[in-house]
Order: sequence, then C-alpha cells, then structure tokens
Amino acid sequence: MDQIALDRLRARLQAYMAKKGLRSTAQRRLIVDTFFSGAPHMTIEDLLAEVRAHDRGIGYATVYRTLKLLAECGVASERRFGDGLSRYELADDASAHHDHLICVNCGKIIEFEEPRIEALQEEIAAKYGFEVTWHKHEMYGVCADCRDAKDTTPDVS
Ligand SMILES: [Zn+2]
Ligand SMILES: [Zn+2]
Repeated sequence: MDQIALDRLRARLQAYMAKKGLRSTAQRRLIVDTFFSGAPHMTIEDLLAEVRAHDRGIGYATVYRTLKLLAECGVASERRFGDGLSRYELADDASAHHDHLICVNCGKIIEFEEPRIEALQEEIAAKYGFEVTWHKHEMYGVCADCRDAKDTTPDVS
C-alpha cells in the first residue's frame, strides 16, 4: 500500500476517534502502529504477540477492542478464510481492491489484484440490475510451495 493511502487511513482513524471522544493512549498507539507496519492477515493473537514484545502489559482485551475500533471506522477489514479465525488487514481504498488465494495445506494467504475480475463483476451486476456494495473473491487450493514439496517427496509406495 502506498504512503498516501496509509496516511488517508490514519487520518480516518484520527477523525473517528476525535468524533467519538476517544483518547489516544500509548498502548493504543503501539497497537495501531504495529498493525499498520505488520504483516497482513494477522489474527488477534498474532498482533498481541507482536505488541507484547514491546510492552508486556498489553492484554488481549485491549488489542481486541483496538482492532474492533479500526474495523468500525473502516481502517481495517475483518476476514475469515475458513479456519474459523478472524484475521485483520488494512482496508483497501476506493481505487484498489484485492482478493485472496488461500492454501488449504499450509494456510498461506496470497493477495492479488485483477482489474479484469473487478470489471467482470461490475458487468454481471449491471446485467442483473444489481448494485454491488462490496464483494469478496476467495480461491482455495494448494500453493506453489506445497505443490513443489509434494513433487519432491520420495515415493515410498
Ligand atoms: Zn501451501
Ligand atoms: Zn488481504
């Protein structure tokens, strides 16, 4: 994500917190900064582990509430990829939308952007007089690494 998009998300969060009268505590800032700079698709536990490396005093509930806050104001998107866990990523801005390939073997999540898929979805919606507010496109299968690993496993049969 480019710097302009990141700044826009931060500004959105600040505006939302100001409107709600929420204070920016040191713990909350650390959680937000870690979320912004961290890996995409983190679970609450992932983010908790990262922030606790800097501040042992941060608890699960604080991370949970901060992520909910980020999701509420549209800065974070909550995703579920079939393993029952909620994962969080920075929200797409209006000009970019990405979708996901999920490896059912190792759990790797690959992001892709494909304007042709976006355009085709618009076309399909228009055909049915349907106004799309949001969509998700997820493909489940086996990633290249796992396929390679399988190919090189000695055949013991
Ligand atoms: Zn895999
Ligand atoms: Zn993603």
